[in-house]
This record gives sequence, C-alpha cells and structure tokens, in this order.
Amino acid sequence: MSASHNTETVTDVHHWTDRLFSFTVTRDPSFRFVAGQFTMIGLDVAGRKLMRAYSMASATYEDHLEFFSIKVPSGPLTSQLQHVKPGDTVLVGRKPTGTLVADNLRPGARLYLLGTGTGLAPFMSIIREPDIYERFEQIILVHGCRHVSELAYETYITSTLPQNEFIGDMVRRQLLYYPTVTREPFRHNGRITTLMRDGFDPSFNLPPLSPESDRVMLCGSPAFLADMTALLEAGGFNEGNSSIPGEYVIEKAFVEK
Ligand SMILES: Cc1cc2nc3c(=O)[nH]c(=O)nc-3n(C[C@H](O)[C@H](O)[C@H](O)COP(=O)(O)OP(=O)(O)OC[C@H]3O[C@@H](n4cnc5c(N)ncnc54)[C@H](O)[C@@H]3O)c2cc1C
Repeated sequence: MSASHNTETVTDVHHWTDRLFSFTVTRDPSFRFVAGQFTMIGLDVAGRKLMRAYSMASATYEDHLEFFSIKVPSGPLTSQLQHVKPGDTVLVGRKPTGTLVADNLRPGARLYLLGTGTGLAPFMSIIREPDIYERFEQIILVHGCRHVSELAYETYITSTLPQNEFIGDMVRRQLLYYPTVTREPFRHNGRITTLMRDGFDPSFNLPPLSPESDRVMLCGSPAFLADMTALLEAGGFNEGNSSIPGEYVIEKAFVEK
C-alpha cells in the first residue's frame, strides 16, 4: 500500500445532471478529517496516479466518504471518474487539509456558508456537524447555480436532514437554506454577491451583514471568490487562518487552468 493514499471501494453513485454527480466510497478507519477540509482523490489511469483536490461532502462521523463532483468532458480526471460504479476503486489521499474550518473563525452569532456549483461540497459536511450548531446561533447556507437542476442535495437539505434523529432538531431551528439560480425563473434568483451586498428580503429577519456578529465561509469559482472577498474586506471583515482566526475564510472550488 502506498504511504500517500488509501484505495477505497465505490459504494454508491448518483448522477444529478450531465455535469454533476456524487459518489460514496468506503472509509479507512484511520482517515480523520475536520468538516470543511479537502483531500486529494483520484484514479490509477494506465499505471499513472491522476489525483485532484476534493472536499469531503460527508459528515466526519460517517463510516463512508462522499464526494460531489463536476464532470469536465475533457478533464483528465473527471472524464474518467464520472464513469465509476459500485465496486470500482478510487484513491483517497491520507492527508486532509484546508482553511474552511470553524476553528479559523472567531466566535460569532451567525455563520454564512456561501457556495457556487460544487462549492457546496464542504458545506454539506459542515451542516451535518453537531458542533457547528453549538458554535453559532444560526447557519445560513446559500447555494448559487445557473440552473435549478444543479441545486444538488436540495431535497436532502430540506427534507432528510431536518428529520435526522441526532441533529434534526438543531437543523430545523438553526439552519436557513437559500438556493438561488441565475439563468431561469426560481423562487430565488440572482447572484450571491448581489444578495450579500443588497441584503436578504426582510421576511428572513436577518440583520445587515456585520463583522461584529457574522462569520462567512466562501467556496466557489475564482471570480466569485474575488468579488465576495472584495465585498467582505470593504465591510471590515478579515480573512482568518489557523494562527489568527478571522471573520471569513475561503477555499477555491476549482482552479482555472
Ligand atoms: C481546494 C480544492 C477543492 C476542490 N474540491 C472539489 C470538489 O469537491 N468537487 C469537484 O468537482 N471539484 C473540486 N475541485 C476541483 C478538482 O480538483 C478538479 O479540478 C476537478 O475534479 C476536474 O478535474 P479534471 O482533471 O477532470 O479537470 P481539470 O484539468 O482539473 O480542470 C479543467 C477545467 O475544468 C474546470 N473545473 C474544474 N473543476 C471544476 C468544478 N468543480 N466546477 C466547475 N468547473 C471546474 C476549470 O475551468 C478547470 O480549468 C477542487 C479544487 C480545489 C483546488
């Protein structure tokens, strides 16, 4: 066995659209991570290990690992990975890491989780974490996509998680889920940056964004991160890290090549 990764078996695959899918794999008991972190995962392609960064979408306490993936038609990894089926093997790096963790944030009243596209992945882990509901009074998860069909996990977040026997009560009381799409009519339309700049509809009872009480985690495209970072910095928010916790943290959902 290689020192850098575990070989895990695919247990389930779900295709959301022709561009998005999720899959679960077995989890080596020695693999520990903090909600919000990512690791390298990949495939052995013609004797070569093809590895890419992926956020864990599953909860830290589950006995499997779950990933939420894009399908890039010409992508070296995902052109292959999108075809995995139960029983196939996937390589999972043994060293999870990342900045999108609650310890990098100062205590606050509200936690905003703002993600575009597959940037939802780390937040799927975070909203399943009991500790997050103890640290913050309210968690506001905003997922931005172009099309309604890309709002992966919507039913899970609105119907399944609130019924969870361990954290369902906290989810019902403290989690606000706000899906928004930009390219077709939906109950919420528009870009996350516009929403965060102009504020939520008053019916949501959310005070204007403030570095005194609000903390923000960002995960999305490079353009989204640049726009949101500029908005937060202008509002007096400082980026946190493992040495100095701050008011916001960011992680790239992917790198533009
Ligand atoms: C910290 C980090 C965490 C990541 N977590 C995830 C994750 O949880 N799920 C996931 O699907 N990807 C994630 N990625 C992206 C991932 O590492 C790969 O880029 C992706 O799997 C595509 O691999 P590829 O070899 O097929 O194509 P690549 O050669 O890696 O990418 C080709 C091009 O596809 C586009 N692209 C790549 N990934 C995405 C994406 N996720 N959404 C939209 N466009 C994309 C970009 O334009 C990129 O230049 C993450 C990247 C980073 C840096």
